[in-house]
Amino acid sequence: MTFEYGCGQCGIVEVQQSMKDDKLVACPKCTSTDFQRLITGGTGFILKGGGWFAQGYSDNGAGSDRASFDRETSK
Ligand SMILES: [Zn+2]
Repeated sequence: MTFEYGCGQCGIVEVQQSMKDDKLVACPKCTSTDFQRLITGGTGFILKGGGWFAQGYSDNGAGSDRASFDRETSK
């Protein structure tokens, strides 16, 4: 299945993994360790653990490319 990760360098990175695989701790593209798995489901997404991505999203939604994307496609 596909997991979405948030990379501090690349933004959203989709990674193909099995449920039993350990989550990645570094980006496969740029090897940055500013990298965490996003938990997706239903409408939008929930990010566990906070971090750079959650802060941009929760403040006003305007600080994130992903937030503006969701808003445009939900009309
Ligand atoms: Zn990266």
